[in-house]
Amino acid sequence: MSVASEEVGTDRESQLARAEQAYRERNPRSQSALERLAQWLPGGDTRATTWFDPFPLVIEDAQGATLVDLDQHRYTDFLGNYTSLVHGHRPDAVTRAIHEALDRGTAFAAPLLDQGELAGRLVARIDSVELVRFANSGTEANLLAANIARTVTARQRIAVAAYSYHGSYELLDWRRPGPATAVFPANDVDGTIQALGDGRDLAAVFIELVQHAGGVVEISPDYLTFLRDFTRACGALLVFDEVVTLRLGYGGRQGAIDLSPDLTSLGKLIGGGLPIGAVGGAAHVMASTAPQRPGAYLHGGTFNGNRLSMVAGAAALDLLDRAAIERINRLGERLADGIRAAASQRGLAISVTSCGSLLTVHSLADVHTSAQSQAAAAQPLRRLLHLKLLEHGLFSAPRGEFVVSTAMDDTTIDDALVAIAQVFDEL
Ligand code: PMP
Repeated sequence: MSVASEEVGTDRESQLARAEQAYRERNPRSQSALERLAQWLPGGDTRATTWFDPFPLVIEDAQGATLVDLDQHRYTDFLGNYTSLVHGHRPDAVTRAIHEALDRGTAFAAPLLDQGELAGRLVARIDSVELVRFANSGTEANLLAANIARTVTARQRIAVAAYSYHGSYELLDWRRPGPATAVFPANDVDGTIQALGDGRDLAAVFIELVQHAGGVVEISPDYLTFLRDFTRACGALLVFDEVVTLRLGYGGRQGAIDLSPDLTSLGKLIGGGLPIGAVGGAAHVMASTAPQRPGAYLHGGTFNGNRLSMVAGAAALDLLDRAAIERINRLGERLADGIRAAASQRGLAISVTSCGSLLTVHSLADVHTSAQSQAAAAQPLRRLLHLKLLEHGLFSAPRGEFVVSTAMDDTTIDDALVAIAQVFDEL
């Protein structure tokens, strides 16, 4: 390490220590609430992705694009519960739909007409989806997709890309792969063939169309076309995980790039803010879960298709028309370009990857791949940046992700860029 970068390193660490101290002083109520919660919850939390050091904020209230924490600070919510709140908090149409549904009961051991309302909307939007089954989270949706693929192919192995995220379960987890999990390098045809061989033991190949937890890194349409051909040739199902990327186009990211998988997994925004997961696909594949069918995969779930998630999701999809999608994609690109310009004007080693309404600010220059994104996440600057953004009223993911919602407009982006410029000046 050169003397200059050593000095920068020490300087960053002392800046981080000061920012942490300021954060503690600003947030005494959140800190003591977390100490109370730790009496009953391991570490005071119940979701790994919400925790960050020294402690996360405890949120009390939210409306539109604004969050309010226990210490009464207001934040612009650039995370939207990790993309699920595509319209921000409590959009009127969604709240109304939930209130009306509450008066009719919430969940029954019986089919509901509301399930057809949401499933029909998904079928109408996504070309490759003819039939839908509901679950309660994106993780569950992907496990269901894996089980459908295993039933249809009579094979067991499931392939997932390095740096992907399909939920917290070992079968789908490239970092801690289970015995039936194969891991391949996305965007690398030769590497994929090397990792998967002829693929004749594979039930399914899973792929996100933009690696989300991997740092908002696009998977190239050429590579996806290769995966489409590869899975057809070897008889495995191709599963597009559009839990996050559905927001990028009216028919999802797959509609925008005009490529069809065998199965699509969905979640997050299609529940209008309430818990949900879904798998959709061609009728002959999805039929393997029809309970009347001999040898069907029997997919259960006490809260599958519960009324509140169904009506909230249908209302949210109705609000997310083509114009709304174009608008948030444009706002996202404006935010990404503004952050890039602010960083380069100040000579900061910060880069931004983006795709429409999704972007990630990396604490290293020239980040283009998920591997580089992971290296950037290890920099002290990343934690410093996150705490400084909070100090200036911007709520983003600790890993640097920003998500734009329809509750935002050009003024929201202008104000955020002013705050980000101040943060950059303080760095
Ligand atoms: N797939 C992707 C692409 C995701 O980003 C996530 C969650 N971040 C999941 C699946 C899992 O969804 P859930 O958290 O609802 O289980």
